[in-house]
Amino acid sequence: MKDFKPSVFVIYGPPGSGKGTQANKIAEKFGFEHFNTGEVIEDTINDPEKLKDPIVRKQKENFETGDLCDPAWVSELVSKEIERMHEEGKGIVFSASPRTLYEAKKIMPLLEDLYGKENIYIFEIVVRPETSIYRNSHRRVCKDCDYSLVYTPENEKLKECPKCGGKLVTRVLDKPEIIKVRINKYIERTKPVYDFLKQRGFDIYKIDGEPSPEEVEKSIFNKINDKII
Ligand SMILES: [Zn+2]
Repeated sequence: MKDFKPSVFVIYGPPGSGKGTQANKIAEKFGFEHFNTGEVIEDTINDPEKLKDPIVRKQKENFETGDLCDPAWVSELVSKEIERMHEEGKGIVFSASPRTLYEAKKIMPLLEDLYGKENIYIFEIVVRPETSIYRNSHRRVCKDCDYSLVYTPENEKLKECPKCGGKLVTRVLDKPEIIKVRINKYIERTKPVYDFLKQRGFDIYKIDGEPSPEEVEKSIFNKINDKII
């Protein structure tokens, strides 16, 4: 594997499909930026400088009371970041973004303009609900440094945090009943996004997410092998 021109990867999948892990692998392989919308929102609303803006303060309130941030605000934030990455000559890997139809309508035309439609690759990692629940309820975080350890058979053997040696605990967010709600929300929210992307002429490559992360990575690269220069 040699090079890949600055391109855009969009990786979808339910909670526990391993989309974040795969997005990281792709980003590392090609020197692209792994763009996580949730993280960018959190960074922005926790930045004291940006909090001087009343709009940002309002979004922080929404976020902290469990309400969704305003889609128009999120889209604008993401668009600015896209423009920045493009200017820096970087490819982008999105995991689970654009998340809403509103966001997709704002962001896809911008990505097409900047990177060219033929350089945008969309994947959906498919796993059974049982797998999603199993992996999520076996995911752990470090009590000391908050490091999040995704479920893999390898990680399952670890007793301590690989970063700091702290204690690993299961997250409340990862209880089976809550995961089921998250899976349903994911299906509800992404269905109209998929329809929109297909209407715009994109293929969504389905990838079997049941095997090991290494196998899943291979299936992804098999789909794009002929694009690599
Ligand atoms: Zn730790």
